[in-house]
Amino acid sequence: MLYDNEDNFGVSTRCIHTDNKVDNETKAVIRPIYMNNSYAYGSFVPNSDGSPDDRPYFGYARDYHANQYYLERRLLALEGGEDCLAVNCGTAANNMVFFSLLSTGDHIVCSNPCYYSVHKFLLDHLAGRFGVQVTFVDATNPDEVEKAVKPNTKIIHIETPGNPVTCICDIAAISKIAKKAGILLTVDSTWATPILQRPIDLGADLVMHSLSKYINGHGDSLGGVVIGRKDLIDIIRVEGNTRLGFPISPFNAWLILRGMATLPLRMRQHCESALAIAEYLESHPAVEFVRYPGLKSHPQHELAKRQMSGFSGMINARLRGGLETHEKFIKNLRLFFNAVSLGHNESLIVHHPLTEADPWYPILKETAIDAGNGFLRLSIGLEDPKDLINDIEQAFNEI
Ligand SMILES: *Cc1c(COP(=O)(O)O)cnc(C)c1O
Repeated sequence: MLYDNEDNFGVSTRCIHTDNKVDNETKAVIRPIYMNNSYAYGSFVPNSDGSPDDRPYFGYARDYHANQYYLERRLLALEGGEDCLAVNCGTAANNMVFFSLLSTGDHIVCSNPCYYSVHKFLLDHLAGRFGVQVTFVDATNPDEVEKAVKPNTKIIHIETPGNPVTCICDIAAISKIAKKAGILLTVDSTWATPILQRPIDLGADLVMHSLSKYINGHGDSLGGVVIGRKDLIDIIRVEGNTRLGFPISPFNAWLILRGMATLPLRMRQHCESALAIAEYLESHPAVEFVRYPGLKSHPQHELAKRQMSGFSGMINARLRGGLETHEKFIKNLRLFFNAVSLGHNESLIVHHPLTEADPWYPILKETAIDAGNGFLRLSIGLEDPKDLINDIEQAFNEI
């Protein structure tokens, strides 16, 4: 780096330059991919001034490796916080936090919805097999969170915006509850990215992301990260990553770092296009409801405006006619792929039928907000918004 104080840089500069040093041996201007799984003894992680870091040395790549380190440095520069641990996927980033920090007899309060493989892990494994108590609450209402806290509560975990229903939880208000009770607040901020939401500034102790989504942004790799308090990350690095073994592959770490260079630009476009499409859907007679945090009609619109600097690219909608109409509609779309995941360059759409066949059913049947004839979840990509609207329009004409 050419400057001492990288903190003064804007977010776009940090996405490109943080820790991107010229390679000593080859003079490559982009960090290479190091596929070796082992490092010679004595290797160390240098600081920008060349002095050894207080981080673990590279040794065996399951514990720590060069591409993981480069990715962690840049994610840390974006999210803030004291330390950062990148792993193989967002599910691991969440679950290893709970596995590392909770013991038999402890209690966790968790937002409903939360990502389904996290929900399942908490219920089936931590609660079902290891005697951790779990309470799911509607965390869009901070009072519900406060009521659920017990003397043995160790963690409040919230996902905001919540997948798949775009609900928003008040991070600052819930952080006050956690601080008053002397417990941890963890936030899955995947749908917002560090560009649109700053949970650590709002009082979170740890922030998790699935890097597989917006941060990588191209739908071609998996990754996850936890960022925040160093004393906690020290424990999670050993008990979670090293003991259980969730290392991110060097290639995936490299791809995600490359994707991050355009993250601020991409988020701007995702937000702009999603708002245009949400407004179009809201004005269309075929649509029963639209839920997008950027619309005034969203139940937490005011909170989203306060807490986020943009509303991201995820939309819920239900068409008149429900299930059958949704199926026909999806079949007739040409630019939207009918596929899971989100935050890619290409637009994606999935249908939540809200029947037993839906893996999210056990979670969503309790959120009431979208009970009924199912709903659609759209991930608005980076195509021209006009083309996406035309695509939706022609699919409407077919149903
Ligand atoms: C996708 C997702 C996850 C899980 O991430 P993976 O990388 O697929 O394991 C966790 N939280 C949220 C909010 C997600 O959207």
